[in-house]
Amino acid sequence: MKIETLAVHAAHSVDPATGAVTPPIHLSTTFAREADGTYPLGYIYSRTSNPNREALEQCLSALEGGAAAAAFSSGSAATMSVFQALAPGDHVIAPNDAYHGTARLLRETFVPWGLQTSFVDMTEPIQVKQAVRANTKLIWVETPSNPLLKIADIARISEIAHEAGALCACDNTWATPILQRPFELGADLVMHATTKYLGGHSDVLGGAVIARTDGEVFQRIRKVQVNGGAVPSPFECWLALRGIPTLPARMRVHSESALKVATFLAGHPGVAAVHYPGLKEHPGHEIAARQMGLPGGMLSFQVKGGRERAFGVAAKVRIFTRATSLGGAESLIEHRASMEGPHTRTPEDLLRLSIGLEHPDDLIEDLAEALG
Ligand SMILES: *Cc1c(COP(=O)(O)O)cnc(C)c1O
Repeated sequence: MKIETLAVHAAHSVDPATGAVTPPIHLSTTFAREADGTYPLGYIYSRTSNPNREALEQCLSALEGGAAAAAFSSGSAATMSVFQALAPGDHVIAPNDAYHGTARLLRETFVPWGLQTSFVDMTEPIQVKQAVRANTKLIWVETPSNPLLKIADIARISEIAHEAGALCACDNTWATPILQRPFELGADLVMHATTKYLGGHSDVLGGAVIARTDGEVFQRIRKVQVNGGAVPSPFECWLALRGIPTLPARMRVHSESALKVATFLAGHPGVAAVHYPGLKEHPGHEIAARQMGLPGGMLSFQVKGGRERAFGVAAKVRIFTRATSLGGAESLIEHRASMEGPHTRTPEDLLRLSIGLEHPDDLIEDLAEALG
């Protein structure tokens, strides 16, 4: 079955009790048992499982082509569950431009907890290979990267992980399963912030980890989920699932418009650099063309004139909203360095765009006027 059909039908079924075409939201925290203590309907208590969460997990697992999924209350909680499935003393390799929340989790929470970490340039597989230690247990890949849209070769990095006896986990938030298929490229785990494209409407915070096989590692992640309870509410699961049927169509529009905006910016005299893997000049273009169906809806650009000029452009736009996050219907613009704080590696003249579902001509006109 094609992914467009899966997105509409996986775990979306007509409610047998009422015939409702969209699923009901099950707010009950507790579920009745039989006289003998059994629970043939499968539910006991909603930290452990809940019909809305189960539907979301089944849908995400089907979309990625995995064996099982665990949904969390945020993308970051999902990321944490992967690190918590490791043991103190284990070594993790992560990108030196990982999502700043992921880098912060490793530095501020998991290094004190006992994980060893190496941050490397994942566009250079040789750097990944050289960072491998005897106790390397996980290589974390995030591609395209944030905010420079660097492209890491998932197949090559999975290979390095497996040679080292480690797992490869891929943060697939930006590409989504519509544009990038990490399991087909060898990854063992896929992580999502459903907050972004999967939810798609900037109205739900959530995350998930999907596993290629339902083995010991996934069971440890499941334990983190049900024992710790950093789970999304039934309504949040419902919202995330509500976003998914339109995901394939949205990703096509996001990508087509982003390419038009990137092409416009690349030709503008006030722009010093455009970072978008759909442009032929982009250093990761070739790998992106191979590993992504389309180059996606995120891009960033650097203006001539430094930080002040970047702020000036962001101040003038009218259709773009100045806000962090991504993946919604509305286009967003963000001065990423000030969001990331003093330890940022992001250039001060850089603006990041999440291209929404507006007409690209209007977005281009807005940027043209702001750039002057
Ligand atoms: C937003 C994001 C996260 C974190 O998700 P939250 O829901 O904000 O915790 C992780 N990785 C990437 C690539 C993201 O864009």
